[in-house]
This record gives sequence, structure tokens and C-alpha cells, in this order.
Amino acid sequence: MEWNNSIDTQTELWLNPEINPSCQADDFSTINNNDVELAAQRLDRFAPLLAQLFPELQPAQGRIESPLLPIQPPKGLAQVQGQFWVKADHQLAIAGSIKARGGIHEVLEFVESLALQQQLLDQATPYTVLLEPAAQAVLQQYEVVVGSTGNLGLSIGIISAVLGLQVTVHMSVEARQWKKDYLRHYGVNVIEHQGDYAKAVAVGRAQAEANPYAHFVDDERSTSLFVGYAVAASRLQAQLVAEKIQVDASHPLFVYLPCGVGGAPGGVVYGLKAIYGPHVHCFFVEPQQSSCFAVQLQHLEQPEISIYEVGQTNQTAADGLAVPVASQLAIAAMRTRLSGVALVHEDVLLADLYQLHHQDSIQVEPSAAAACAGVRALFNTVAGQTYIQQHGLAPYMAQANHILWTTGGALVPAKEYEQWLAQGELRSTQLFNA
Ligand SMILES: *Cc1c(COP(=O)(O)O)cnc(C)c1O
Repeated sequence: MEWNNSIDTQTELWLNPEINPSCQADDFSTINNNDVELAAQRLDRFAPLLAQLFPELQPAQGRIESPLLPIQPPKGLAQVQGQFWVKADHQLAIAGSIKARGGIHEVLEFVESLALQQQLLDQATPYTVLLEPAAQAVLQQYEVVVGSTGNLGLSIGIISAVLGLQVTVHMSVEARQWKKDYLRHYGVNVIEHQGDYAKAVAVGRAQAEANPYAHFVDDERSTSLFVGYAVAASRLQAQLVAEKIQVDASHPLFVYLPCGVGGAPGGVVYGLKAIYGPHVHCFFVEPQQSSCFAVQLQHLEQPEISIYEVGQTNQTAADGLAVPVASQLAIAAMRTRLSGVALVHEDVLLADLYQLHHQDSIQVEPSAAAACAGVRALFNTVAGQTYIQQHGLAPYMAQANHILWTTGGALVPAKEYEQWLAQGELRSTQLFNA
């Protein structure tokens, strides 16, 4: 027995009572599937420009995408059924996190609309013209502003700076020092706040409103971010086909995504449900002390409820998930699409971070390691077993595929990572005897 049962009290699963399993239609008015397709096309238009700016993107001709990697089952599963994969967004180019999808898309959309408006571009011009002096003289008059716990700031800051825009990142208290240093190195204006993420966003929004040349990337409300994240779904579909992984009534697909404000995982789930409908089962994972998405779904009558109102502290090693209030856009999109939310204890985050390294040679940050707890929540909890029964999945669990979405980690400095690893090894011994 390699499994320490005390962990069961550290994994919880909340099932979403409003899920409509077959939800595939455009029933959500803010965006539709065509908007996601337009975002995918926009990213393709910019690909040659991105390949020129970032040599690391040349092999993929400017497409920012992560591999789908086979992994060992996470430790501590009460039973092991199906195949396990990592969707390796921790390796995404430029920003080293899932934020490279939505964040870069939004800045590109802003630049494209400016360039068309100012006649820097027409249908026939290659987008690399935007790096030439005439276009740069226009772009540098404009400013991009964002509030962040760190990773969104990295994504927005880097892409804006290399495109010649001015950029200000408002960092909340949990943002790591190295992320601020990294951005300042790119010439990004980093403003440090003592308050939480919701406060940093509010200050950024107010600053941008006062400047007619500013564009505010609104992580709580932006549809451009959301559709940029959703592009991941069709990219994943192509990878599943290439791996000959079936997704249908007898081959369920389970996807586990770490959740902060809900925009990044929400976009991905929106896209996946459009493709796979009832055959994909999507779970968010949140830290027990920062579970804003679960709290909001449990209190739909109280929009913008904060975790502090239910006694949570927002203290977590998963800095990318340390968010007190969920995105209302993501909530609206997920109400009928999300299967549930798993809540992960702090000790488990680092144990899983260690095991991903130890078993699979995968290096992630604590926020991304949260995905592992999603699998455990399905297999080890009463709620997880109830879900499998209610959806008639029990006969098909042996043919299931489980995708753990590892959302960040590539840019973490070695010193910082080694500290997590050492703590994680200890926790892993305590929790998993491994
Ligand atoms: C931002 C982030 C998430 C969650 O994205 P939200 O849009 O905030 O829900 C998950 N993991 C990492 C590493 C992140 O940076």
C-alpha cells in the first residue's frame, strides 16, 4: 500500500449541479464559436512576425503551442484507470505559461486594429512591416496596461514591449520578485502593490481609463483574452487525432485545469465543449484558501462574492491562482459547461510538483501542479464516484483519457524551483510514501 489515506481529507470535489452535459451550442451570448475561429486566424496572421521576433518559435513557424505528453498516473490514486497525459503549457514559448495564449492574442488584436485604423496594414501587407520605423513611430504612442499576480503581466509585458508599445504592469502582492525583474529588463513599467490581485486590476483599470492612448487588458472581463485561450481546444483536437486518441461515448476525455480568475481554463473548456460536447468532462482545480470560482458557483445569487466573505485567506504557494473574486465572464460561460471544481491543499501542491519532476521529468510551478489533484478528486472522493455513476461512465473508465493541464513553469529560476522541489520531496514522502 503506497497510499496514505489522510490525503483523502485534503482533496475535495464540488460537482456543478447546473451542468448540461451536451452543452455544445452557442448558448452563451457574450462570445460564440466563430469568435474563437477568428482568434485562431489572427494568431496565424501574426505567426511570421512572431517567428521573426522570437527565434524559439521558428521551428513551429511562429505558432505558440505546447506538446501533449504521456505521463505516469499521479501518485495517491485509489484506483488507476485509463491513460494519463500532460498538456504542457508550462513550456509555452515567450511567457512560459498558459497566459501566452490569451495575453498575446489580446495584444495582437489591439495592435492589428490600431494598424488597420492608421493604415499601416492592408490585406496584402506582411505583418512584419509593423517592426519598421514608420509603424513603430505610431505604436510607441500607445500604452498597454494590465493587473496581474505575475504570469499575465509576463505575457502582456513581453509581447507589448517587443512590439514597441509602452506597457505598465500592476503587480499584486504575491507576484514573485523575479517576474518583476524579468519584465523591467524588457523595459516594462512595473508597479508593485501591497494589495491583492483584485486591487491591482482596479488600479490598472482606472489608470488606463484616464489615458486615451491606453488599452487595458481586463483579466476579469476581456473577451479577447477568453477567445485566445479557447484556441487551445482545436489545437489539442489535432494532437489527439495525431495520437489516435478517441473521444466519444465509450472513450470519455477528462481534463483538469488549474483556475485563478477562471478566464484561461474557462476559455479552454469553452473551446473543448464546442468540439466534444458530452464526451469531455472538465474540472477546475483551486487552492483551498483561494477557491473563488467554486465559491462564486456556489453563490450565484451573490455576483462578485469574494473568498474573504467565506473565511478563506488567499494564502497559497500557487501564486497564479491567488485570486479573491472570479471572472463573471468565465462564470457565465462555465455555468452549464463545467463538471466541477476540485480543491487542493497546500501540502499536496508541492508533493505533486515533486512527483511530476521525479516520475515524468516535468518542471512546473505550484499553480500548474494543482492539475494532479483534479485526478485524485475524481478517483478518490465520493463526489467523484457519484459523477462517474451519474454520467454512466463506469463501464468506460478503462478507456478514458485524462489530461492534466500544466499551466506554467518554464521561466521559473532554478533557485526558486529547487526550493519547491526540496519541500515537495518531503511532503511527497509524508503523503504518498514516495
Ligand atoms: C493564470 C494562471 C492560471 C489560471 O488562469 P486564470 O485565468 O487566472 O484562471 C493557472 N496557472 C497558471 C500558472 C497561471 O499563471
